[in-house]
Amino acid sequence: MSAREPVCRYVYDLDGLSAHVRDVVAALPPRCRMFYAMKANSAPEILRTLAPLVDGFEVASGGEFDKARAAGDGVPVVFGGPAKTEGELVRALTGGVARFHVESLLELHRISRAAVATGRTADVLLRVNLAGPFPDATIAMAGTPTQFGIEEAQLPQAMRAARQLPGVRPVGFHLHSLSNNLSPSAHLDMVRLYRDKIAGWERAFGLACDVVNVGGGIGVNYAQPDVPGQVGPQFDWTGFAAQLSRLVDTFPAHWREVDFECGRFLVAAYGTYETEVLDVKRNHAAHFVLVRGGTHHFRLPSSWQHSHPFRVRPCEDWPPDLPRPEAAGTPVTVVGELCTPKDVLARDVVVDRVRAGDVLEFVHAGAYGWEISHHDFLSHPHPEHVFHGRMPG
Ligand SMILES: *Cc1c(COP(=O)(O)O)cnc(C)c1O
Repeated sequence: MSAREPVCRYVYDLDGLSAHVRDVVAALPPRCRMFYAMKANSAPEILRTLAPLVDGFEVASGGEFDKARAAGDGVPVVFGGPAKTEGELVRALTGGVARFHVESLLELHRISRAAVATGRTADVLLRVNLAGPFPDATIAMAGTPTQFGIEEAQLPQAMRAARQLPGVRPVGFHLHSLSNNLSPSAHLDMVRLYRDKIAGWERAFGLACDVVNVGGGIGVNYAQPDVPGQVGPQFDWTGFAAQLSRLVDTFPAHWREVDFECGRFLVAAYGTYETEVLDVKRNHAAHFVLVRGGTHHFRLPSSWQHSHPFRVRPCEDWPPDLPRPEAAGTPVTVVGELCTPKDVLARDVVVDRVRAGDVLEFVHAGAYGWEISHHDFLSHPHPEHVFHGRMPG
């Protein structure tokens, strides 16, 4: 008896990804740039596909910086992230980083020191953790205590240091206060607030910004409507970009560049996590579908506490000498192969029919899927990673 390995893989659609990102970038108003926030998915195939399409990569570690360089020597790289080491700063400086997003006063000093040591001056954006109030409290992440950025109250002190330190040149501000936002109007409100805040800081500090970074956080709708494996309406980027164009027209003319740094919205739709059903069973009146894989490959649903949308691909091949359990027309909970009740990919989702041996296809798995997962917990084999389509360049 030769054992066939059950299906377990990520499948990526590079052509779809290229087309989508091309459209996103083409819709951007003048002065606006799109950087790819690499933490969403830093597979070399994804990076090589995106390198010629975006204005650069946003990295948040020395490791990501190296991956960005490996994907294309000339790709502009901006460096963010809340806790950068001296080693990472030097590596980025000697590797030709375009600018740093500074997260604290001490970090500003560290960057200056590393820049002086390497005979450079580093362009920096001060990342500000806004105090609020926000236009729509339900979507705001800043203003509540987080470890990110420099608090507004400390900005005068940071600005003074940025101007005095020999190794840095302050060229603007960085604001990233939203995550997975699905509302274009809320996003526009946020960008409008950024505009007013930054204009105020320019007046207060007698400064003229060159670059303004408005972050990422454009969302993906993971809600599954009635059709299995489909998702609800997505963020209307074209509509947003049209409104944004009007808003950017109100920005001071000397703001030469307005940066976006999106991850999720660019890549999520172009990855699918396919995993074979190993067993179907009932316990305490609930139906469980157990798959080859789980949250150690795809932690997103557990991290966001949602049921991830999937469809069932029926597979007819089944050994005649084995029973074939199934669940039909009933809510099922899809769990993985880990020995913990937290290994849940979808909870109480009604399916027409799912059998052992069928394959579940989790859609919109291209961002924060494999990247954020604890791959070696329980020492199961990793999934395959299959890339369809062409990498331009
Ligand atoms: C994570 C992150 C992003 C990307 O966020 P998405 O929600 O994937 O668009 C951009 N900027 C910063 C500073 C981040 O931490």
